[in-house]
Formats: sequence, C-alpha cells, structure tokens
Amino acid sequence: MATYLARKRLIERSERFPVTLMLEPLEICNLACHGCGRIREYEHVFHKRLSVDECLRVAEEAGAPIVNIPGGEPMIHKQIDEIVLGIQAQGRFVYMCTNGLLMNRAFGRIPPSNRFAFVVHIDGMRDVHDHAVDREGVFETATGYMREAIELGYRVCTNTTIYRGTAPEEYVELFTFLRAMGVEGCVTSPGFDYESVTHDRQQFLARKEAQALYAQVHDECEGLDIPFYNNPLFHDFLQGKRDYRCTAWAMPTYTVEGWRSPCYLLADEHVGSLRELYEETDWDSYGTGRDPRCANCLMHCGYEATTILDAFGSPRDLVALARS
Ligand code: SF4
Ligand code: SF4
Repeated sequence: MATYLARKRLIERSERFPVTLMLEPLEICNLACHGCGRIREYEHVFHKRLSVDECLRVAEEAGAPIVNIPGGEPMIHKQIDEIVLGIQAQGRFVYMCTNGLLMNRAFGRIPPSNRFAFVVHIDGMRDVHDHAVDREGVFETATGYMREAIELGYRVCTNTTIYRGTAPEEYVELFTFLRAMGVEGCVTSPGFDYESVTHDRQQFLARKEAQALYAQVHDECEGLDIPFYNNPLFHDFLQGKRDYRCTAWAMPTYTVEGWRSPCYLLADEHVGSLRELYEETDWDSYGTGRDPRCANCLMHCGYEATTILDAFGSPRDLVALARS
C-alpha cells in the first residue's frame, strides 16, 4: 500500500485514484437487518450476480492493492472462491465482509492466506447483536465459525457499528471477548443515517454524539490491549480531534448496477466505467458542510483514505501512520 500510494502521489502525481476497491458481487443477503441500506436500495436486483470475469476486470480497472468484498452477503455467490483467488492472483489483498453465517462455505475452498481476511459484522454481545440483525442465534453461529476459522489459520477481523442507545460497556465487553478469541483487528464506525432506512432512524448517531460515544468506548478500552484496526489519524478524526475533507473517490464501489456515484453510501447514479465516475462526478459538492446527507458521515469510505493521503504533507503524521 505504501509503495502504491507513493507511486500514485509522488511519481504519477495523480489527483484522484482508487486506494481501496469496494466490490459487490451481489446484493442479496440471508439477513434483513433493520439498519441496512443496501438490501433496501437494491431489492430490485437481488437476482443479479457479477461474473468471475467481471469481478477480475473491475479489480484490474481500479488497480487498488486492497479489494473489500461486501454485499449483500458475498458467501451466497456460488463462485466466490474463484473471485477471491483470482483477485489474489493479481497480487491484491482481499477483505471479505460477511455476517458470518456462511463462513464455513469458504473452508476448504479459499485456503488461509496472508492475502485474505474475513471481516465479520458483529455489533455487540449476543442480545445486542441478535437485535441489530433481527434474528436470534446469529451471534452464536457467527462467533462459532470465527473460532473455527482462526483455528484453521484464517485471518479474522471484525466490523462493529456503534449505535445510539447501546451502553459503552457493551462495546468494551465485546472487544475484550473478540481479543480473547484471537481476532486480528476490530474496526469500529458509527452507523450511517441511510435515507432508505425508515424503520428505526432513531438508532443513528449525530456527528457530535457519535464522536463522544466513540471516544468514551475507546477510553474505557485503554490498557485492555484491544487490536483496534483504525489508523491513529482516523481514530483522532472519529473522536473529533481532527477535521478532514471527504475523499470518497479513494474508495470507489462497483455493484451489479455499475459504479456508484458518489460513494459507498450515496448513489445519485450508477455509471459504466471508472473513468466516467472520476470525470463526471462533481466531487466538490459532497462531504460534510457541502451536502446535507453528508452532515453526520464519519465513515471509512469518506475519510480514512483522507487521513493517509493528507499524511504525505506532514512528516509527523506519516511517522505516526508508519508506526501503527
Ligand atoms: S448482514 Fe450486512 S448486508 Fe446483510 S442485511 Fe445485515 S447489514 Fe445488510
Ligand atoms: S461524506 Fe460520507 S456520505 Fe458524503 S460523499 Fe463522503 S463518504 Fe459519501
């Protein structure tokens, strides 16, 4: 990643380029969480799948060293192993975002590798998680497969959405539990207020409230040696200690309908090529303070790459990143 960024920024002098590709080979899911925007936006294309060839072509087109595969639930795709192995063969790292219920389908088909990691969606301990995903027993099944995966030698990370109304202690207990299990890294982010989620908008956190809760959770985890995955600059941003501009172009998203413009969270339109996405999106009109829908966004897809790209202008920040 460091070599790629240095080449793009310092040698090619590229203004905008993919840092991480979000590749959604299908949109259907085996859960229907009440906070999920994806399954509501793409219900009309649940029958569609990206082919292996299309996934590999898109990964080449983007050129990013890291490919995140969310969905929907990617393990539902019958050729997910060919997609993952094909992208790895291009020399890229693959992070598969999953709800964990079908992880066992990967065992024996996608071998453990330092170029592949599961990123399992876990929003709390048993009761809180099962409530977040609207189904009993999900926590038990997902964490059971996570344990099995770790024993088999897979890299396992987690992604936790922090919601309003959940006590900080719940997250401290969860992260302590995940660390003891041997999880490699815990990613945390506040829930994004999707317009398409009409059932329970109260759960989403406004910006200041999100920053305060995030800071409180991380303060209470101090000294517990939790393997948080957020880089230190993004961590400061999530606590309100730093301000950044959104660089949604750094994490472009390809779906069964094409490239989402402008970002992983907002889809004002879908376009057919990465060139169109970069040239025809009015990037300056998005971000906090520019588009009301962005007001409370603190998400990785808008701001984590900014922290890394901005560090190129600050030797101190670059050192902090390199250390982390
Ligand atoms: S598991 Fe993920 S993709 Fe599936 S419904 Fe829940 S949030 Fe949406
Ligand atoms: S601020 Fe968030 S919602 Fe707005 S464009 Fe950036 S990533 Fe998307």
